[in-house]
Amino acid sequence: MKAVQKRAAELQIQIDDVYACLGQCAGCVLAADERRVSNPDMSPAILDLSVSRLKEHAAAMAPLKRVNVTFGIADHILIGADYIVDLHRRGSEIIKAGNPEDRQHSAVFFTTSLVGKPSKVIAMMQDIRSRIGDEVQLIPLVVLDGRWIEEAKFGLLWKEMVLEAKALFGKVDLSTNLSVDSINVMSPVQLVKFAKDNGFDEVTINWAPTLLNAPKTLSENAKMAKWLLEFDALAQAGVEQITTSFRPVIERTIDALMCTYDGTPPSLMSTVTDLVPETILKSIEIDHLGHLLPKFEAIGDITHADRHGMQNLGHIAEAPIATLIDQAMPKVARKIAAIHAKGSCATCKYSAVCAGTGFHIATNVARLSGVGLGGQGNCPHVAFGLIDRIAEEMMARHQERGLVA
Ligand code: SF4
Repeated sequence: MKAVQKRAAELQIQIDDVYACLGQCAGCVLAADERRVSNPDMSPAILDLSVSRLKEHAAAMAPLKRVNVTFGIADHILIGADYIVDLHRRGSEIIKAGNPEDRQHSAVFFTTSLVGKPSKVIAMMQDIRSRIGDEVQLIPLVVLDGRWIEEAKFGLLWKEMVLEAKALFGKVDLSTNLSVDSINVMSPVQLVKFAKDNGFDEVTINWAPTLLNAPKTLSENAKMAKWLLEFDALAQAGVEQITTSFRPVIERTIDALMCTYDGTPPSLMSTVTDLVPETILKSIEIDHLGHLLPKFEAIGDITHADRHGMQNLGHIAEAPIATLIDQAMPKVARKIAAIHAKGSCATCKYSAVCAGTGFHIATNVARLSGVGLGGQGNCPHVAFGLIDRIAEEMMARHQERGLVA
């Protein structure tokens, strides 16, 4: 079956300029040493080049419905207000170059853990807000360390900062890095309640195994899968009206691939040759050194970076972004196909969905690190259980509507 070509309407960009963070999330993609800095990790020259390449790329991707630019990975509040105001200006230039139809939902995001003295953090946010105008929205993307969820003192101070940020910027998004440590102290019910109590509408769950954090992310897959399924069930049931990002991503991919819903597994090769290049053109990340990375969204963002045992697409100094992607695609396709040619993936009915969403990266980490393996259906991790439930529900909905037998 040929994968259906659906042009993505959104351009998602991430620039990894800051690694500094006082937090210690066990599921963070950064190593402790990388976080122990106090300056931006991306040099001004690489930041300039990134923005100029991305403006050119955004303009070439038209027509677009939305363009979103995230400055990640760690705590930008540690770098200061002037820096964040400057990032907003740079991100706005990229959005304007893409000329998206839906300007209201095209925004610049910056990551922060909102850790610090509340009066100081609030004053900084007020200063930033007073200097950025209203043309392009700036949204704080707050990263929560799940181990703090039960700390009453921290919770109150934190809520004060979140509510102020929401009042100033209109929206604040919450994300959390899942690890074995965090799921042991934070149940899905607690996280949903925490998000609701603190004014968040959407929670992005990041589960991003790396070669370094594998013992903390891949060692208890059955438990991790159960946690994710429970969280998904709460979101589906409309509990506290919290939504999450991984279900839409998996649904969208299944929808794009299983066009007839006749139970025939989609072809891995057509996914790799048709869907993946389109995904990569519209979902890209530039690391602090200027390497271009394809950004997939399995459970939150995960990339082809060496920390996941994957190869980047080249350096942005070498060529325009589309050229780098074009040149690297045969290698990328071979790598994804090779990952799915082994173990239980070789005969799995969901291998195309895993290739399209980015679960293949977690598979690669599980094999290289030797941590994990032994998930449902002999899956190396959490993918099979999640995809299976979502695919079956989609199939049932289609049957109800008489779209399939
Ligand atoms: S669901 Fe699991 S076994 Fe199947 S292809 Fe994905 S990672 Fe491999």
